[in-house]
Amino acid sequence: MDHLNLLLNIGQLDWVFKGSSSIENLLGNIVVMVARHMHADVCSIYIYDHVKDELVLRANTGLKPQAIGKIKLKPGEGIAGTVFEKNEPVCMSDGFTHSSFRYFKGTGEERYKSFLSVPIVSGDSPVGVIMLQRQENNRFENSDIKTLQIVASQLAAVLGNIKMIMSLQDATPGEMTRGKKEQLAGVFLKGKAASRGYAYAKATLAIGAERFHEIAGQAFGEKYGLDDLQRALKKTEKELITLQKAVEDKLSDAASMIFNAHLLILKDKSFLAAVTAPVQKGKNAPDAVIAAGRKYIALFSASPDPYMREKVHDIEDLVTRLIRNLAGREAKLPPVHQRIVIAADLYPSDLLKLSSEGVKGIVLLSGGVTSHVSILARSLQIPMVIVNDKAVGNISDGDRILIDGEIGNIYVNPAKDIVKEFKDRIDEQTVPSAPPVMKPFTETKDGVRIKLMANVNLLKDMELLSHLSCDGVGLYRSEFPFIIRKNFPTEEEQLFVYRKLVEGAPSKDVTFRTLDIGGDKMPAYWEPANKENVFLGLRSIRFSLKHQDIFIQQVRAILRAGYNCDLKIMFPMIFSLEEFLQARDIVMTCMAALEKSGGVFNNHPKIGMMVEVPAVIEIIEEFARIADFFSIGTNDLVQYMLAVDRTNDEVAEYYIPHHPAVLRAIKRVADAAKAAGKDVSICGDMANKAGYLQFLIGCGIRTLSMNPVYMAENQKVIGEIDVAQAEALTLRLLATGDINMIENELFS
Ligand code: PEP
Ligand code: MG
Repeated sequence: MDHLNLLLNIGQLDWVFKGSSSIENLLGNIVVMVARHMHADVCSIYIYDHVKDELVLRANTGLKPQAIGKIKLKPGEGIAGTVFEKNEPVCMSDGFTHSSFRYFKGTGEERYKSFLSVPIVSGDSPVGVIMLQRQENNRFENSDIKTLQIVASQLAAVLGNIKMIMSLQDATPGEMTRGKKEQLAGVFLKGKAASRGYAYAKATLAIGAERFHEIAGQAFGEKYGLDDLQRALKKTEKELITLQKAVEDKLSDAASMIFNAHLLILKDKSFLAAVTAPVQKGKNAPDAVIAAGRKYIALFSASPDPYMREKVHDIEDLVTRLIRNLAGREAKLPPVHQRIVIAADLYPSDLLKLSSEGVKGIVLLSGGVTSHVSILARSLQIPMVIVNDKAVGNISDGDRILIDGEIGNIYVNPAKDIVKEFKDRIDEQTVPSAPPVMKPFTETKDGVRIKLMANVNLLKDMELLSHLSCDGVGLYRSEFPFIIRKNFPTEEEQLFVYRKLVEGAPSKDVTFRTLDIGGDKMPAYWEPANKENVFLGLRSIRFSLKHQDIFIQQVRAILRAGYNCDLKIMFPMIFSLEEFLQARDIVMTCMAALEKSGGVFNNHPKIGMMVEVPAVIEIIEEFARIADFFSIGTNDLVQYMLAVDRTNDEVAEYYIPHHPAVLRAIKRVADAAKAAGKDVSICGDMANKAGYLQFLIGCGIRTLSMNPVYMAENQKVIGEIDVAQAEALTLRLLATGDINMIENELFS
């Protein structure tokens, strides 16, 4: 009855309009009326500001009045932002548990946990959100949702007009000018969590080419002479030597030559002459350095050899560093040390440089969370968020950025209360945390043993393993040292790295994956002939079989390093039986050659393959006869089965590991392995995620290879799993083609 009353009143908005002295007053009258009629303690109206791409609280009753105009949410942020973005209602008896919930201190909101919120849309144009709150024990019913939707539709037209008027009031000439940077204050941007951790620091915008072009276009007013130049050259050399040493100590597998190329250029007579001679003749030193840089860039860019062309990055880096040491204050070149770097895109080698220079965090504009730059950031323990939002373009050097790498948010120039909220979490990171407590081995609730293996990308990942109950290395991504370095490592260099891996591997159980170069893992010094569709190009085992000299060196190094361990070798991205046999033959040939030369090596490795190409599924039973084991690479399997580029944030919503086709493929592989008595494991990111473990165990999978960071957490989850129940769940999931049903089973 009450609801009917309300609708009539809203229908008579005209009356409210006339009785209101201002727009603010009108909005205030509306929220009071809606709250009263719907027996809500709080009613709020958020209106969308399309210039700033944010929802602003424009009217409220029930909370402290100072919240009006202050509370601002990005689409997707908080309950209102979620309702707005998804264009569907949210009704929860405890809204504080909503995954995107944002709490605003000082509003008095904590007493009103029961939420009902619906979008306001005029025609097809989004206007804002109306939100009701009650005390927790007083939940909203389905009938309330319908009523509030009708109210919202009745309000839409008038609120649509209010929105337009308010946006005209708010817009300043600066905002209307295209290309002019807005000063960002208290801005929240929703992104994707690519690497865990929190960071709070000043921003440094762009590195490499973008930065070089910026300073190359700058006019230097102050005069810098020969003495200044000499000082800057010395300082730069010292810096580079320190960095090279630090990176070698920390990352011995990947560090080789990373700064050596810069040092060599710095010592090169012709480079030195190119920078000093003009200064001796009176040219301003920064201009001379930039001119020399330009000359070398032109020279290297014109080279037909990709190895030489890659040197362009080194020159850009070096010149920027030199200018910083020469005329840093004038050039306003912020450092990387203790900063958060904002970049459009990064090479793996950039990441390594940033890590060795002490970067605190990274905000990337593009990429996917299963991309290899993200995987590498996790190994280097650099908090990283991918934010595909044009507002990132408004961030300026020196803006304060707070990264929440756990859920993928960034805050630009956050308010004090937000910083305070994160302070403890940021501080906790700097104190080395006690190693997680784990049981000596992992089993399900009903006592079925599950092997927890580690995915290792860099030797640095091994540090954690000695503190964990880990059954071995289930996936060594051997390509990382290749792609970070400046050249292909030799057999002996590889041997050095692989020996360290074997020495540190728990139970001396190590699975080496041979080179998985290509896709988004192309070394900068190696350019594919065809850059289109790299994920479908000369990738992985295809690369190794085309470049057998490189492949043979790697296989020999693996066999030699693994002589005293339980050695498994697997080939990535296998697509046919012939390809597998060809790769296996090369391993056999290498063993025969090592035997002949009398070297120490492992002569009985298990030889298996990654399952990540959909074509393999249909002939998996044949593969089970010839391969010693399977490891399912769900990152690529999902990408290729669903035709979704794993590095493209724009299609991230289509990247669904629990798609019914993927689930059935996993089960089929597990069944084929079991029937043939072969081992099968999962080594893609699905094994990291607690939500998928029950399904995987229900499929019969007993070995999970994961990022070590998740191991302790996942051991606990597995300890709660009952195998019979897991099998029943798996059967239910396999019986449906409906993604929503699968999500309900897995995540609700
Ligand atoms: C995978 O594809 O799931 C996998 C483990 O390999 P990568 O992520 O290195 O491609
Ligand atoms: Mg893969």
